[in-house]
Amino acid sequence: MINDILNKEQLSREDLITLLKLEKEEELQALYEKAYAVKEEYIGRVSHYRGLIEFSNYCIKDCKYCGIRKSNPLVDRFSMNKEEILKMAQWAYDNKYGSITLQSGERTDEKFVDFVTDVISSIRELSNGELGMTLCMGEQSEEVYKKWFDAGGHRYLLRIETTNKELYEKIHPQNDLHSFDKRVECLKSLRKIGYQVGTGVMMGIPGQTIEDLADDILFFRDMDIDMIGMGPYIVHKDTPIGEEALKLGYDTKEDKKRRFLLGLKMIAVSRLFLKDVNIAATTALQALDPLGREKGLKAGGNILMPIITLEDYREKYQLYNNKPCIEDNANQCKACLTNRVRSIGEQVGFGEFGDSKHFFNKGK
Ligand code: SAH
Repeated sequence: MINDILNKEQLSREDLITLLKLEKEEELQALYEKAYAVKEEYIGRVSHYRGLIEFSNYCIKDCKYCGIRKSNPLVDRFSMNKEEILKMAQWAYDNKYGSITLQSGERTDEKFVDFVTDVISSIRELSNGELGMTLCMGEQSEEVYKKWFDAGGHRYLLRIETTNKELYEKIHPQNDLHSFDKRVECLKSLRKIGYQVGTGVMMGIPGQTIEDLADDILFFRDMDIDMIGMGPYIVHKDTPIGEEALKLGYDTKEDKKRRFLLGLKMIAVSRLFLKDVNIAATTALQALDPLGREKGLKAGGNILMPIITLEDYREKYQLYNNKPCIEDNANQCKACLTNRVRSIGEQVGFGEFGDSKHFFNKGK
């Protein structure tokens, strides 16, 4: 019966739900294998790197699940200077990473916007335009998105977090700064400007259903999304949602396994349904399972985001507890991840952008 669904040309919402509810080991294996076959057909046996630079944890937002939310007083706030960021970008370029991701807490003040613009154009210069740049700095005005695009950013990742509006409102404060509709508008602005647009969700948020996750995948399709970065929700104990989750038993082994499985199933079902998009096997997977990222690739992911943040800052950028790789440096992360990719019989696309095929297949 599962094979009937897996071999369908077009999956319905009901099919997505059925697949996301699978529990039996052999059925899960069949799902992952089918998703991997789709990845092989549309992408190949190759993974691409986005060296992750987490350059500041100052944030004006107060997302109730995130460790670096504005009102967490326990966070030691930092902002790297331009030289530090360029040093990491240069390292990524020298190590043929193909692309980097610039990520930070959210700020919209002019000083920040100008700083980022300058950093983006300096990275473009130092790499002769050969280093792809994914930006992940939250909600900004269309003018700012345009400014950063013109400076050299060409992909933007802004997660919708959940497409269940009620749940969205539960996990964010109720004010203009945290509006669901605004976030959707931002995704539309990014598309209009010409970015490869990425979004994603967290899986296993308290109160989230399997139906919600199926609707998230339909949203990816309806928004014609090019890239997906999603991962299991992970507790950060000093946050309101983290406290609730701990009461619900999120620190137990069984629950970690449940959310890890949700993470893998979402990758696999998204791959089956959307075929040619880029899908990241995120670090959050590894926070729940030591082999998380390899398993994410085997379930249909094709993008890895090795952290290249300077060692001194890693500990301070914790969106969730037990973040992996905090003790490592960029060289260690490269060696470790590259071995992980090879261990499953794939190559790393060193020196290549690894752009979203979906973006270029449009209108063909
Ligand atoms: N401020 C930027 C980038 C940093 S947050 C932005 O909002 O885009 C990047 C992502 O981390 C968020 O989109 C969220 O999905 C994820 N994240 C935050 N807290 C998390 C948690 N407790 N568990 C899992 N993922 C989390």
